[in-house]
Amino acid sequence: MHPNIIIKTADITKENVCTIVNAANSSLLGGGGVDGAIHRAGGFEILEACRTIRKNKYPDGLPTGEAVATTAGNMDAKYVIHTVGPVYNQCGNQCKTLLESCYINSLKTAQELGCKSIAFPAISTGIYGYPKEEAAHIAYDAVKSFLEKGYDIEVRFIFHNHDDKERFKKEINLETEVETQSLNYKFIADCHLGKLAKYLRIMGFDTLFFPHIEDDKLIIIANKENRIILTRDRELSQRKNAPVLFLEPIETKEQLKTLIDYYHLKEHPVPFSRCIVCNSPLQVIKKEKIIDRLPEKVKKHFNYFEYCPACDRIYWQGDHYRHMMEFLEQVLNES
Ligand SMILES: [Zn+2]
Repeated sequence: MHPNIIIKTADITKENVCTIVNAANSSLLGGGGVDGAIHRAGGFEILEACRTIRKNKYPDGLPTGEAVATTAGNMDAKYVIHTVGPVYNQCGNQCKTLLESCYINSLKTAQELGCKSIAFPAISTGIYGYPKEEAAHIAYDAVKSFLEKGYDIEVRFIFHNHDDKERFKKEINLETEVETQSLNYKFIADCHLGKLAKYLRIMGFDTLFFPHIEDDKLIIIANKENRIILTRDRELSQRKNAPVLFLEPIETKEQLKTLIDYYHLKEHPVPFSRCIVCNSPLQVIKKEKIIDRLPEKVKKHFNYFEYCPACDRIYWQGDHYRHMMEFLEQVLNES
């Protein structure tokens, strides 16, 4: 996974980025789905700007694959880039090229605007009928090839629901690392912070934890591997020879909140990209490869699995997962 790419489930109108992309129709005057949501959240200013563009530049509507920018009105983003995706049963042998153009032209427009971050919805996969699996590869490859030319911009793929996000990840990422974290913070937790370490791993952060380790060794590892020491030990926190964050609170939830605020981690969790037990990056794995190891109930109800190659554990999104996600969402909301 390219380090500048983030994949998540969210409401795109609330993304705190320089520009969000609108899967518009060629009229630019609003519509259903993401388009409607963006116009509603941004307000009348966007519609006004679109009308002006229609009048001055595209009297017949914005052509498929092209992109234009307007204000984002009342939203947190500065701009909305409107692009028109192909209608799958009308694009003949041009479908792929047109869908690629949507992503590339949006990125070029963002670049011209000086943006360092952009959020994309899934383009054309709604009522325009583009098969989601095919669209996933086209979207990801287009963005990746753009980034590989050396443009420094954070690209977020925002999905409306969890299933679509997982499907996308599965398509582009099968049997490769799930890791999608853009921040490079790495931690090492002292022996009092095992539960915190577990939750940081759940959030996707590389976090070492040894139940019995001396302070000096902790400091050696931290310096060697560029890790931040997390500790409730005031004495350790005052050592000058290592990066240390002292965590006052006793409760894991409060500790997490302190940490998230301190390092501005709120936007960056990539839940379940790392093994909770051994901290190794997880891989997506096909169900048929591990089906023999699954309990009957799991076999029946789950189709998406992740696997830890280091300790051989299999993860799926059952009750346990749901509870942890609920806890995490609570923490992030309160941070
Ligand atoms: Zn593991």
